[in-house]
Amino acid sequence: MLFIGGMGRSGTTVIERLLNEVPRLLAVGESVNLWKRGVRDGERCGCGEPFLSCPHWSAVGESAFGGWETVDVHRMVDASLSVDRTRRTPGLLLRRDPGSLSADQLWYLDHVVRVLRAAGSCAGPGTVVMDSTKHISTAALVTIDPRLDVRVLHVVRDPRGVANSRTRAKPRPEAGNVAMSTRDPKVTAARWVTDNLGFELLARRGVPTLTVRYEDVIADPETQLRRIASFAGVDTSPGDFDFVSGRTARFSTPMHSAAGNPMRFDGDVLELREDTGWRNELSAGQRRAITMITAPLLGRYGYRFRP
Ligand SMILES: [Zn+2]
Repeated sequence: MLFIGGMGRSGTTVIERLLNEVPRLLAVGESVNLWKRGVRDGERCGCGEPFLSCPHWSAVGESAFGGWETVDVHRMVDASLSVDRTRRTPGLLLRRDPGSLSADQLWYLDHVVRVLRAAGSCAGPGTVVMDSTKHISTAALVTIDPRLDVRVLHVVRDPRGVANSRTRAKPRPEAGNVAMSTRDPKVTAARWVTDNLGFELLARRGVPTLTVRYEDVIADPETQLRRIASFAGVDTSPGDFDFVSGRTARFSTPMHSAAGNPMRFDGDVLELREDTGWRNELSAGQRRAITMITAPLLGRYGYRFRP
């Protein structure tokens, strides 16, 4: 399993979509939001079908539980929210074995693991399943389970780009265009530091981790995709990356991802372009504040103080 980790609005959806096009890499979307948005609310899957009528997810539910209707979905939603709430605390990061988890956490983890394994086996042998939940709390939780071989793809993006993107209210077409939440740039900057430190800690705990910059994926997608696929342990052949040519990607594989960024519903041809709107849209004061807050880690990921 490949866990896609990092801050929201770091280009993880583009990266997930590109990786899903590589044979034997399967995007399942955000496991933490699957219960609420998919199973309970029936929002649309990445393929366009409502979650419960998507053939892929029906097969996964059947294989994991004998059908989604057998799952206590309200308890799962509560549990997912409580796991998610711990994402700003180091609690889960300090635990190393399932015995240290609460009964609710174990129950939740067991359901998530069953879904991930079922998704993998429905897709065929040699498949690596990708969970794009992104949050450090879920990463810490799934890496505790001995049934999974989890590798973490830690995606970083220039914090000024992340912060600017978080000031925009983006509509979510799968949920009647309700907008994704917005956030003050200074708050985003502080979270950029704690989130990235969380993934550094996880790597230090021994979880195999590959750190990739969003900007590098956009600049040379094929090289970075090969690097990620090899890290994920996927057997690839030379033609597996023909869908990218320069900075253009052509998609032909449906993406059955449950819950995620609205960009999942964009067309079949994607011109990869770095979103540099922050250079004009943030005020000089905002840029300075974000740079100061994130300064301890900026250089570590190769970002300049004065871009
Ligand atoms: Zn689907």
